[in-house]
Amino acid sequence: MTDWIKRDSEAIWHPFTPLEGLDSPLMIEKAQGVYLHTTDERKIIDAISSWWVNIHGHSHPYLAKALAYQAQKLEHVIFAGFTHQPAIELAERLLNILPSTQSKIFFSDNGSTATEVGIKMAFQYFHNQGIKKNKIIAIEGAYHGDTFGAMSVGDRGPFTAPFDTFLFDVAFIEFPHSCQEDKVWQQFKNYIDQDDVATFIFEPIVQGASGMRVYDAKFLDKMIAYAQQKEVICIADEVMTGFGRLGTLFAADQLEHKPDIMCLSKGLTGGALPMGVTSCTANIQSAYQSNDLMKTFFHGHSFTGNPMTCALANASLDLLLTETCEENRQRIETQHRAFLKHIEHHALIRNARIMGTIMAFELNTDKDTSYFNEARHHLYPYFIEKGVLLRPLGNVIYIIPPYVISNNDLNYIYQTITQFLADYPSILKSLKKNQ
Ligand SMILES: *Cc1c(COP(=O)(O)O)cnc(C)c1O
Repeated sequence: MTDWIKRDSEAIWHPFTPLEGLDSPLMIEKAQGVYLHTTDERKIIDAISSWWVNIHGHSHPYLAKALAYQAQKLEHVIFAGFTHQPAIELAERLLNILPSTQSKIFFSDNGSTATEVGIKMAFQYFHNQGIKKNKIIAIEGAYHGDTFGAMSVGDRGPFTAPFDTFLFDVAFIEFPHSCQEDKVWQQFKNYIDQDDVATFIFEPIVQGASGMRVYDAKFLDKMIAYAQQKEVICIADEVMTGFGRLGTLFAADQLEHKPDIMCLSKGLTGGALPMGVTSCTANIQSAYQSNDLMKTFFHGHSFTGNPMTCALANASLDLLLTETCEENRQRIETQHRAFLKHIEHHALIRNARIMGTIMAFELNTDKDTSYFNEARHHLYPYFIEKGVLLRPLGNVIYIIPPYVISNNDLNYIYQTITQFLADYPSILKSLKKNQ
């Protein structure tokens, strides 16, 4: 039985994918560097790092070796009451590269659990001290994951509609576009000044899922400073921005005021296996340092601190911290800037922006930028057919490549986008005819 696609459709429920009405998934045989190889021998450039996770390219031999070595030595052990070298090394190395205020590492399974842990850590910080604070501030458009706590602090929209009544209350401030910073500042300050805010959670500098929206680091700095002055725990969700994505190792490196809690995942293992990390300051930790059992942080997952995943993350850090990797990130940004100059005045696009290795722009369509903007349904197959994996968010087209991508491959992506902009008017026309 080799009709894999039929077998897939009978047995598998894919993420973020309707069960009816979509094209079949593509069968991938193998992946190397930035290329995904399909079973029908097509080659597709992974221009979105397989959902923003991959940083060193696919099937990297150095990572594969580290994983294989660890798999044969110690594949897993319960992490309560036991520990091991890969986890200890990873925690130490993370603390070395994270802002110096971070002092403890808590492992979990993915980005959603990393933010769940961050939120729980912040709430229990106050609970352990008998302080009543129960409000949480988040930014409109936020995405912090798909579990209930993470969903609660994320944007409410079509994706969360079935669950809205079960999500806890969150005070949302508007997105701090440069044109409305004063207004957002007032909203933020009003909430903070009520003195019942426990925590403020945010994606620093770039909000990913809402369409790679960039806001001013200085404005975020001002918010963090004010929040911390009022003893509000600031949680930076660096699940997407961490590990060099914005050029610097962490978005927090571009801030003067450092977060109290940081959430990491995606690039942590180079994008090869899932793992989440939540780090915190000595101050957060101090609220848990007690002989009173009830002040324990009772949270854990079966696979917390998995040795293979830790070994992989350590190997990924080896690569991340090389000069080559840093040069690659700078090179990508330089290439993006040159391309942006080329297209920023194109009549069909607006709001072109670059932050580190990410480049994004919006297509001028008549509708808003929501995920259901129909532009997306024509863009995705168009690019796949040309051998480029781009997965637009509504009418936002973005590139977020593995750092090892060559200038040639980058240029091919740019050319494909340029070609698309040339073809777009006639694509639209034929669509209208078909309606
Ligand atoms: C992807 C993402 C998450 C969720 O991570 P998962 O591993 O998919 O659960 C959380 N926060 C941000 C900012 C993300 O980009």
